[in-house]
Amino acid sequence: SKTGGRGVYSVFEPSMSDAFEARRRTEADLRAALEEEQFELHYQSLVDAREGHVVCVEALVRWRHPTRGLIPPLSFIPLAEDTGLILPLGRWILERACRDAQAWPETVDVAVNVSSVQMRQKGFGAEVLAVLAETGLAAARLEIEITESSLLEGSEATQENLAALHDAGIRIAMDDFGTGYSSLSYLRRFPIDKIKIDRSFMSEAATSADARAIIRAVAGLGISLGITTVVEGVETAQQLELARSEGVGQVQGYLLSRPQPQAMLSRTGLPQHRW
Ligand code: C2E
Ligand code: CA
Ligand code: CA
Ligand code: CA
Repeated sequence: SKTGGRGVYSVFEPSMSDAFEARRRTEADLRAALEEEQFELHYQSLVDAREGHVVCVEALVRWRHPTRGLIPPLSFIPLAEDTGLILPLGRWILERACRDAQAWPETVDVAVNVSSVQMRQKGFGAEVLAVLAETGLAAARLEIEITESSLLEGSEATQENLAALHDAGIRIAMDDFGTGYSSLSYLRRFPIDKIKIDRSFMSEAATSADARAIIRAVAGLGISLGITTVVEGVETAQQLELARSEGVGQVQGYLLSRPQPQAMLSRTGLPQHRW
């Protein structure tokens, strides 16, 4: 019968409730982690493609879980976004990054990834300015990285926040460029200062003339529009050579530096690359 059939109970099937239970546990863990500051930032350099010096360092969050070890961001950011915990976590990340940046040379900027959930919050722009005031970091040293999905939802609050950040002298970088649907229209509608070409283009560049042509075209577009371009995911000397010859402004990837903790960064410094 309809009521007695298995279908009625399907949402309570063990595997499903296990998944809910696991999620509920992770959410509770995530809350506790915020209280106990179990998060840490690792930093990866962005290097000037022509001169070889470090111009910026990107903050990448990790969760040092008491029993599960170091957890990568893609394993907990989506849940943090769903539960709203990304708001306090994002605030912590921003503050930590701005404080850490004070220990670096003034020529080195700091880039912070910001979730679309943060960007959609009314008053987020003002919150960032408050963090700058509190930490004493100059606006010109901060870069905010957003993905196309933040702009896709393009709410009024997002527009206002982007304008407030940009007007204050904070740079806006569009991350994972080329993976969304209307990348080009965003360049007209939003105050974008930097384009980070998604690393899938670099990984295909050696074998795909099309991927290479796209990198070259975006580099040219950047020059015409006064937007800095970055190639992400540079892993080999050959890829570096290719990125440099296509005229991008900055390069980033494991070949140049792995994401590393602040303490390590202080020990090794920010190397000048010679090429
Ligand atoms: P993303 O912003 O595109 O960051 C680049 C990711 O690629 C990082 O992974 C980095 O470690 C990795 N990567 C860097 N160079 C190379 C390379 O040469 N080859 C390869 N294969 N990978 C490379 P990670 O740290 O696991 O971060 C993944 C994503 O998580 C980030 O992608 C970003 O979307 C998100 N994320 C990281 N930190 C934060 C944060 O503080 N806040 C928010 N909202 N999202 C974050
Ligand atoms: Ca990023
Ligand atoms: Ca600067
Ligand atoms: Ca990216």
